[in-house]
Amino acid sequence: MIKEQKALFIIFGGTGDLAQRKLYPSIFELYKKGYLKRNFAIIGTARRPWTNDYYREIVKDSIDGMYDSEQTAIAFSNHFYYQSHNVTDTSHYVTLRQLAEKLDGKYEIGGNRLFYLAMSPRFFGTICEHLKSQELKTTTGYNRVIVEKPFGRDFASATILNNEISQSFPEDDVFRIDHYLGKEMVQNIAAIRFGNSIFNAMWNNRYISNIQVTLSEALGVEERAGYYETAGALRDMIQNHMLQIVALLTMSAPVSFTDADIRNAKINALKCLKVYTKDEVKENFVRGQYDSGRNLPAYRQEDQTAPDSMTETFVAGKLLINTMDMAGVPIYVRTGKRLATKATRIDVVFKQVPNNVFADNDLRHDVLTITVDPEPSLRLQLNSKTIGQGYDFDTHRLNLDYKLSEEQKKSVPEAYEKLILDALKGKASNFTHWKELQYSWKFVDAIRQAWDDNVDQVVFPNYPCGEMGPDTSEKLLAKDGNHWEFTI
Ligand code: NAP
Repeated sequence: MIKEQKALFIIFGGTGDLAQRKLYPSIFELYKKGYLKRNFAIIGTARRPWTNDYYREIVKDSIDGMYDSEQTAIAFSNHFYYQSHNVTDTSHYVTLRQLAEKLDGKYEIGGNRLFYLAMSPRFFGTICEHLKSQELKTTTGYNRVIVEKPFGRDFASATILNNEISQSFPEDDVFRIDHYLGKEMVQNIAAIRFGNSIFNAMWNNRYISNIQVTLSEALGVEERAGYYETAGALRDMIQNHMLQIVALLTMSAPVSFTDADIRNAKINALKCLKVYTKDEVKENFVRGQYDSGRNLPAYRQEDQTAPDSMTETFVAGKLLINTMDMAGVPIYVRTGKRLATKATRIDVVFKQVPNNVFADNDLRHDVLTITVDPEPSLRLQLNSKTIGQGYDFDTHRLNLDYKLSEEQKKSVPEAYEKLILDALKGKASNFTHWKELQYSWKFVDAIRQAWDDNVDQVVFPNYPCGEMGPDTSEKLLAKDGNHWEFTI
């Protein structure tokens, strides 16, 4: 049932790329669906001196093609107010508070505030401190803060950032965005695992041979090269999106489907993630950097990258989760830029039956494939009898496919839309808890440290644009007698 949400949004970074490409369209979808109707307002802040009218035009542009009538677009954008504001200037928060109080009264919001930090994380601490000291937090409603990634660049910096935020906001009010957690098929993992006896019973080391997660991008670093050069694929993708997906795939069944129980289950899974020694990193993780190919430049030739850069644009690794159910099951992860295609895909490879009674027929592993992007779908690969009769009893591979219809695809909300609605409702399970981050960073730091010490003595570049990474990625699985199910 659709219930109207009352809230005053204050978006820091209101002129930025994220706000215009993701936040305003998502908020508009919530408005069209009736989750936001009358009792809401949005204050966009940033340094440049925009007027309300100009800001509303920008908002209208960002929802271009999404509305039926000009009237709807105008009615929606009239809820937007612009306040020029430098986040480091204390006096600006006074003006912001006055505007917030005025709008709270005008729209009868009742003190509910959602602070969206859509700007560089180096400002998160000072913003949160000022929100508290300058009394932008209310006492009559909720005060929730949504923070964007990256949350630190290692365990130490993430801890400092978290300490700064937690001076002003308790953990329950901190919503750390990982937009993969808003994707339809990522959310479906829980339903598939815990809603079906066949998978519930078989989701353990007795039946699963290995799990594979691929998050491949066809694009290079584009205009993010400056940031990427200091981050790399390990920090940019493995620490957050990949480990969140791995947690959902390996956690034990939550006691109930509540925020607290789901989060506990995920935290426990990540707590059991084996942190590698340097030698183990060499054994279990490989890295790559793209070379030129298909008329595209090498990473080292991109703007803002060093000609001898050692930043990795590809990572593949084997993870082990030492819980009773998952111990011994290799979880292979792979992510990279300038790969053969853009896709996010999970393959759960089941063990073969213990005894093949069809002596002349090779049986294959059953595989459950969950495709997250670009087309949400499910596939179960099974062994089946080949149609025919007599003594020539043959088996072959059968695919059971589920794809969303065109109609269903249209109704799938964008990840940001779902996550903003969750934050409005105070539902936190699709956001990353600080404890999850702690375990994730400790795991990633160990790999980073080993690579900084060059334990693998890698030579970059080592894969051409348009392929699925360096050949060391294939070898990593081959050592265990496995192979990537997802090939191009
Ligand atoms: P962006 O386009 O560079 O926007 C930064 C915003 O911060 C601008 O509105 C800028 O406006 C404002 N700003 C900078 N310094 C300020 C100051 N001292 N006081 C007040 N405002 C200031 O960045 P973005 O791409 O939107 O990214 C924002 C955050 O989201 C980052 O943490 C990023 O990692 C994360 N993120 C972005 C995306 C994406 O698709 N863009 C995806 C995932 C995560 P003024 O210059 O007018 O002050």
